[in-house]
Amino acid sequence: MAKILIIEDEMKIARFLELELRHEGYDVLICTDGRKGLETALNEDVDLIILDIMLPGLNGIEVCRRIRQESQVPIIMLTAKDDVSDKVAGLDTGADDYMTKPFAIEELLARIRVALNRKRNQKEPKNDILQIGDLKINMASRSVFYKDDELTLTKKEYELLEYMVRNKNIVLSREQLLNQVWDYEYFGDTNVVDVYIRYLRQKIDEKYGIHLISTVRGVGYIIKD
Ligand code: CA
Repeated sequence: MAKILIIEDEMKIARFLELELRHEGYDVLICTDGRKGLETALNEDVDLIILDIMLPGLNGIEVCRRIRQESQVPIIMLTAKDDVSDKVAGLDTGADDYMTKPFAIEELLARIRVALNRKRNQKEPKNDILQIGDLKINMASRSVFYKDDELTLTKKEYELLEYMVRNKNIVLSREQLLNQVWDYEYFGDTNVVDVYIRYLRQKIDEKYGIHLISTVRGVGYIIKD
C-alpha cells in the first residue's frame, strides 16, 4: 500500500484529502507546516508527497528544493491560485506535477496514480536481483543462490526458474512456460516443461528440503511468495 504525505496548512483541505486518499486505500500522513513536512519527507519512507506552496515555517518551493537534494520521491504541488510563477518555480525545483486549487479530487487521484506508476517503472530496470525466501537470482550475472550456496543450473533451467520467479504467485500453464522459455524449439511438446520442472525440483526443493515449486493439477505450475 502506497504511503502519501500531505503537507498543507489548511486543515479543511488536508482532512478532505486524507479522507479521499484513505478511501482509495492509501496510507496517509499529514503535516501542517513546512519544516515538519520536510523533516517527515526525509525521515519517513513515503511514496508520494502532496505539497502546498503557501506554508508557514518554510514555503513549499523551499521544501521541494530541499527534498530533491536527497530524494526522487514524486511530488505533486498545490498552488492556491492560478499563479504561473508558482507553477514554474515548483517545476523548476523538481516537482513532478502541480494542481491549482480548487481542484477536482478525481483529477488529483488520477495524477497520483500516474506518478506512482512512473515511480514503480523507474525502479524495475535498476533492480536486477529477484528474491524469493532464501533464494536469490542475480539477473545480471545469471547466477542463483540459496542462502550462500551457489546453484549450478543449465541455461534452460535458469531461464525457466527466472521466468517463474518473475511471475511468482501466478499459475503458469505448461503451454505458457513452453512459449516463454523455449520459443518454438519444442512447439507443442509440453513434456519438456515437466522434465525441466523435475530438474529444478531436484536441484532446489529436494536438495534444500524446501517447497518452492507447486503443481496446480490440470493447469500448470506456480512459485508462491
Ligand atoms: Ca497554504
